[in-house]
Parts: sequence; structure tokens; C-alpha cells
Amino acid sequence: MDDQGFLKQKPGFATTAIRSGIEPDKYSGAVVAPIVTSTIFKQQPPPGHKGFIYGRSGNPTRYTLQECLASLDGGKYGLTFSSGLGATTSIVSLLSNGDHILSSDDLYGGTNRLFRQIAERFGIHTTFVDFTKLEMLEKSIKENTKMIWIETPTNPLLKVVDISEISKIVKQHNKEIMIVVDNTFLTPYLQRPLDHGADVVMYSLTKYMNGHSDVVMGAAVMNDVEIEKRLRFLQVAMGIVPSPMDCYLVSRSLKTLALRMEQHKKSALMIAEWMLKHPKVTEVLHPGLPSHPQHNIAKKQMTGHSGVFSFRHSRGLKESRKFLSSLKVFTLAESLGGYESLAELPSLMTHASVPEDQRAELGITDALVRLSVGLEDTEDLIADLDQAFTVAFQQRILEL
Ligand SMILES: *Cc1c(COP(=O)(O)O)cnc(C)c1O
Repeated sequence: MDDQGFLKQKPGFATTAIRSGIEPDKYSGAVVAPIVTSTIFKQQPPPGHKGFIYGRSGNPTRYTLQECLASLDGGKYGLTFSSGLGATTSIVSLLSNGDHILSSDDLYGGTNRLFRQIAERFGIHTTFVDFTKLEMLEKSIKENTKMIWIETPTNPLLKVVDISEISKIVKQHNKEIMIVVDNTFLTPYLQRPLDHGADVVMYSLTKYMNGHSDVVMGAAVMNDVEIEKRLRFLQVAMGIVPSPMDCYLVSRSLKTLALRMEQHKKSALMIAEWMLKHPKVTEVLHPGLPSHPQHNIAKKQMTGHSGVFSFRHSRGLKESRKFLSSLKVFTLAESLGGYESLAELPSLMTHASVPEDQRAELGITDALVRLSVGLEDTEDLIADLDQAFTVAFQQRILEL
């Protein structure tokens, strides 16, 4: 399969993922880094230690993972947190009362809730703007704007936002404004925001990075030593740290990230192309399709798209319900990025908390279905979708 004109993958990604953290253990020669569960570390007569003091402030298994995360994004520093939202909480805590955040409007629900219901109470106000409209973004930068929060592609509408253009505009206004990109949907295999001017890359490792639907964790990757110092302080001082067992699981998962993402990318694109031709499908929202409104921006900053995309069908809620309940290989569930395929209805599930008029304005209707294409055989996934369409739309005929 050709690369469709997407950005070329940097050589060495899989090698970096695999080589990072496998220096054989100095005592045993073990190639897999051991899981260190100890919360206490013997010190030399004070004040002396070997870099480890206490389990919250530092842990070798966590450091092994953080090193790998940094190198995959081409960054200097990586930090991990007990969840994606834990990472976001820590990043937002870099700000102070009176500071302002400018954020993408089509955004992960939990991030939206954190900005509106928690940061707001601490005097940090957020303005939500459609970042595909750059003039709107520029107009919304205020004197006290300290952080730009970008999610691209957005969820569940898969809008693509131009990271380097935004960086340029923002840094012209004020170099001190921090640009954060939530890269959960793509992983560094498909997009490396630091290369496009971002200051911090944020992840929910719960999704593709761990990829096996068995760990909740978050991360931040950056190049700036000052940001790293302040964020590492918050990680330890606020205590939002992951467990060594979970760090081990994510480290192990990253060894196959390149292989997994390549398959998610290929399979989802094949399914999206199949859907385009389906008589009951009216729109396919996938950045890899030339019909996508920001396909050219996608090609400029991504090496391809992952397994999450949405589509619209020609009917309404009843057909969506029937379609979702008829699926046999896809599981009806929220979340994304695992090896197993999932399908969901954003209007009643992941985005139910978005007010109805705002949902209508954004285009999150009852005929919009989101898929997370997993690693099963593509033919089986297509056959499953095909039979579910048949059942869902047959039902209507029987009723008529
Ligand atoms: C899941 C998710 C988060 C939150 O991460 P958790 O690990 O669930 O806390 C943030 N951003 C995006 C895009 C997500 O999909």
C-alpha cells in the first residue's frame, strides 16, 4: 500500500521503541527491565542517594518507560501520570489563578469537563474555539492567555488542526504561551507534534500506546528543561503517579507500537473506503480520505491516520441502535485504541454530556457512529458491518 502522499515516517521508529530500556541488567543480564516494586531505597549517610528516594518521587520501572516515551516523540523528557486526565490536571496546574486557556472546541469530554468544572473554580478560564478557523483562534488570544490546548484529529468529528500554523500565529503574539497537543488518537508513530512547534505532547496511554485495554495511564513529553522541571515537581508534589506494574505493561506494549499502528492504519482506511461505497452511508469522516476537508493538512503533519473514525448513515436513532446491537465482531463500548474493534454512538454515549443544541451545532447527530478499528482480520470486520447494516435497515422495511 502506498503512503498516499502523507508525511514520510522517520527511519528507526520501531528500533527506537525496541532498543529503549533493554540494556541488560547489570547483575543478571536480564534483557527485560525488571519491575521494581520497592517504595523505599536505602540511602548513603545523609544527604546521599543513588537517584531514588521514595516510590512516589521516583521509580526505576517508571523511568524506563519515561525514557522510551521521550525518544519515540523525539523529545528530551517524558513524564508519566496515573491517567490521561491526571497528566492534563498536572499540565493545567502549571497555570495560576487569572490565567487563560484557549482550547479546541471539539474535544475529549473529560478534558472539557476538567476545564469547565475544575480549572474554572481555581480562576483559570477557558475559551473554546474551532481551531480549523485560524482567524478565530488569533482573535481569541488574550493578554492573559498562557496555554493553547490542541486536540487533532478531534473527537468524534475527526477535524484536523494545523499544528505548525497555530504555533506560528501563537508564538508571534507571545513566545511564552505554551502549546499543548493531545496526541492520544495518533501516537508518535503517526504524528510528532514537537516537530511542528508544540511545547508539550500529552497522552492518554490508556488508548493506543498501551493498546491492550488493561491499563489506565497518561504521559507528557517535552524538550524544554524548565517545563520538565516544573511538571516533574507537580507530578511528585501532587502525587498523580502510575504504579510500577502498569509502567511495565505499557513499556512492553510500546515494543509492538509500530506494528500495531501500521495495521490499525491500513485496516481502518480499507473499511472507510468500503463504507464510502455503501448505499446506506452518507458521509465517512476519516482524515485519510481525499474527500476529508483537511486531508491536505493531515498529509502535511501525519504519517497516516489511526483506527478511529466516524460515519453517518441515512436514517436515525432506531437504525443506529439496531446497527450497533447487531454487530458481532465489533463490541458496543466507549474508549478506543485497543486490539479489539469497538463501535459506539457519540450522541448517547461518549458525548451525551455535551448540551443538545451544541451537539446539533457540531453535527453530533443520532446517525453518527464512531468506530475504533482493532487488529482483527479486515475481511471479518467488513463482513460484520455489512450484516449489521442489512439487519438495521431491513427492520425498517418490515415495520413499514
Ligand atoms: C481517553 C482520553 C483522554 C483521557 O485519558 P484517561 O487515560 O482516560 O484519563 C484524554 N484525551 C483523549 C483524546 C482520550 O481519548
